Amino acid sequence: MSDREKQHIALPLKYRPMNFGDMVGQEHVVRTLRNAIESGRIANAYLFIGPRGIGKTTTSRILAKALNCTNPQGVEPCGACENCKQIAAGRSIDVTELDAASHNKVEDVKPIIDAVQFKPVASKYKVFIVDECHMLTPAAWNALLKTLEEPPPYVKFIFATTEGDKLLATIISRCQRFDLRRIQTHQIAARLRYICEQEGIAAEEDALLAIARGAEGGMRDALSSLDQLIAFKGDKVTEEDALGVFGLVSRAALEDLAGAILKGDAATILRSVEMFDSAGKNMRRLSGELLQHFRNLLVYQTLGANAAGLEATPDQIKTLAEQAKLCDASRIFRVADQLATMEDKLRYVLSVRTLIEMTLIRASRIATVASIEELMRAVRNLRGPVDAPAAASPRLAAPAAAPPCVAAAPTPPQAASPAPKETPKHVLTPEEQRKIMDDPKLNAFMGMFKGAQVTDVS
Ligand SMILES: [Zn+2]
Repeated sequence: MSDREKQHIALPLKYRPMNFGDMVGQEHVVRTLRNAIESGRIANAYLFIGPRGIGKTTTSRILAKALNCTNPQGVEPCGACENCKQIAAGRSIDVTELDAASHNKVEDVKPIIDAVQFKPVASKYKVFIVDECHMLTPAAWNALLKTLEEPPPYVKFIFATTEGDKLLATIISRCQRFDLRRIQTHQIAARLRYICEQEGIAAEEDALLAIARGAEGGMRDALSSLDQLIAFKGDKVTEEDALGVFGLVSRAALEDLAGAILKGDAATILRSVEMFDSAGKNMRRLSGELLQHFRNLLVYQTLGANAAGLEATPDQIKTLAEQAKLCDASRIFRVADQLATMEDKLRYVLSVRTLIEMTLIRASRIATVASIEELMRAVRNLRGPVDAPAAASPRLAAPAAAPPCVAAAPTPPQAASPAPKETPKHVLTPEEQRKIMDDPKLNAFMGMFKGAQVTDVS
């Protein structure tokens, strides 16, 4: 059976992106690189910064191929010409890769400096890819710096590193810098789904989600885990298998816990935490994932199901839609705030479980008890529409997908048209919105809710 043979190639290798179109989750980088190639405005040096396993080396190679391909398809490398094939195999005479983790001294970069003087042999450009470039010694950087400053037009440098903050400003300023993001969980899950289809693997949707969650934004790690699970379990992968590998709580259990918080159901909260703890689940991950869930809930409530910042699979979105009815945005915001504070404390606390229990109970009270501000607002509204502050920020009105709800009590089925503005519904103030979008703790887990999407808000 050929399936068996196929599996001999490790999945991360087999499904490594071959061109810009294959790359997942780095649209901002891909767009800029494509434009550069299309317009012929190619920088002397590129710098890719980002955590491991998210595609820095892959991007470097694709860029090298795009620069030297003899038969490009638009801006994409063809993948079939001699240059493309040799670069992919790491054998191109004009593309040199240096792993600075193990080759970081002056004598290691000397060959590069010497080679720069000679024109490329079989390609348009001589490309030097320096991986883990933060490991180069200051002396090695000094030796390179002059070349980096004024390289011949046929020379291009590509630097990649996991630790951009260790690079000197003099180096960064000579490069065009790109920060690669952790890839969103649902994007990884979708890629895993595609690969399973190609490989004839029957995997549960939640199993793929669990693998993606466990990979924490790294596509390579996700593919390695899938590979291992297939080797271990054959061509059927269940959520339970995947959860066992990472010590994660199942999607359904996590969502139930979030639901219990929203409903103020302390008994279920305590029972769930006890169950997760005794099952040996990773409690720190649990807290992080809960925070991620509430962050998604906030994004859903404020911006709707199609918000660019919503990091959720279709199944998760279904749950978000249901839970969005249980509580209004300002309370969810305060719950998320509690969880974010807990994240900080978890680093120092001895009894993780106790802290989680206490925080979740507190959060569940916040979710169900009206705050002073809410009462004040209600009082103001009773007095009549004198100054009507709610109408002052119409751009923040909740989308149709997020029905208004005021108290903990479930709302009537549908609020029909969005016409009446006088309901005492609270929408997030611009200040609160900005805080959600900017709070590093709220965003720490996927770390990519920046830039373009956020500007949609205001
Ligand atoms: Zn080619």
